[in-house]
Amino acid sequence: KRLILIGPPGSGKGTQSPIIKDEYCLCHLATGDMLRAAVAAKTPLGVKAKEAMDKGELVSDDLVVGIIDEAIKKPSCQKGFILDGFPRTVVQAEKLDEMLTKQGTKIDKVLNFAIDDAILEERITGRWIHPPSGRTYHTKYAPPKVLGIDDVSGEPLIQRKDDTAEVLKSRLEAFHRQTEPVIDYYNKKGVVSQLHAEKPPKEVTSEIQKSLS
Ligand code: ADP
Ligand code: ADP
Ligand code: ADP
Repeated sequence: KRLILIGPPGSGKGTQSPIIKDEYCLCHLATGDMLRAAVAAKTPLGVKAKEAMDKGELVSDDLVVGIIDEAIKKPSCQKGFILDGFPRTVVQAEKLDEMLTKQGTKIDKVLNFAIDDAILEERITGRWIHPPSGRTYHTKYAPPKVLGIDDVSGEPLIQRKDDTAEVLKSRLEAFHRQTEPVIDYYNKKGVVSQLHAEKPPKEVTSEIQKSLS
């Protein structure tokens, strides 16, 4: 299957991704993760992306379209993929359509992580992440056994630099202005499933399983 996850920051895309990925053996392509890796490694791409990311603004369409174009051609992504955090603009969605048409494939489903903005600040400011596995924790909703340590590997957890109340405001603004139109774009194609992303993680997982069965 070829899936897209759309939702505001903190809506649970990263939390659900490993579960969907394992169940359907898909490759998980998260543009945010790829960009953060490029920033950490100070690659030319990372250098270009850093300023926008720090401010909670979107990086340019050309940069992210380039990374996705390369990634979906990989052999490991031929059976299907989860796009997490891409497309975030209508231009990105149109470019993605062009890439897939060339491959003779298309998007099967768009999962819309619908949620009220009011919940997101608490989710974002309490978020801890284990980058190698993508596991997410939350100081209140899903605390690790030992503060700052991944339960499974014993490795350290990190907090994202942009997970502050202030940067969240710009990220949400970008979501409403630039990414919500992408949901309409796919609604017209009839491929969107609406999730109740404010529910507990397990209930969201079963909604996803129903919509993919
Ligand atoms: P996204 O990838 O959409 O930005 P995450 O999956 O990283 O969001 O979730 C943000 C934070 O909220 C994390 O700390 C995560 O543990 C927590 N979280 C995720 N899903 C839920 C949920 N259904 N209920 C409560 N907290 C959640
Ligand atoms: P979130 O957890 O808020 O959904 P991501 O990890 O997906 O955030 O993205 C972090 C940052 O990376 C964004 O604020 C943006 O600057 C950049 N970014 C990620 N994906 C895209 C994209 N498809 N287009 C433009 N910018 C992106
Ligand atoms: P169980 O102990 O039944 O296996 P979990 O350890 O998966 O359950 O989760 C315990 C509680 O924490 C559940 O209510 C679940 O909804 C919530 N939870 C689990 N993972 C997360 C997460 N990443 N973010 C927020 N809440 C979570």
